[in-house]
Amino acid sequence: MSANTIKKAKKLVESGGVSKIEDDLFQIRSSSNPEISYFVTSDSCECLGFKNFYKFHHGKGLKANCSHLEALRIFIQKKDS
Ligand SMILES: [Zn+2]
Repeated sequence: MSANTIKKAKKLVESGGVSKIEDDLFQIRSSSNPEISYFVTSDSCECLGFKNFYKFHHGKGLKANCSHLEALRIFIQKKDS
């Protein structure tokens, strides 16, 4: 994962862009357009980056990632610590 993705994810968490809806369902703001937000679970996201990942890397055994999924991970870690 790129350092840029992690940077974006941290910024999302710090700016309060992550809200918990229910267990394993979160709403996370788009980092490029604050008017857009995505529903994210621990292993899926609605954004284009996530969907395109499987299109471009299909069958390579890689796990898709995006700044929202990463933001969710940071958000959960923070809460537990
Ligand atoms: Zn995403």
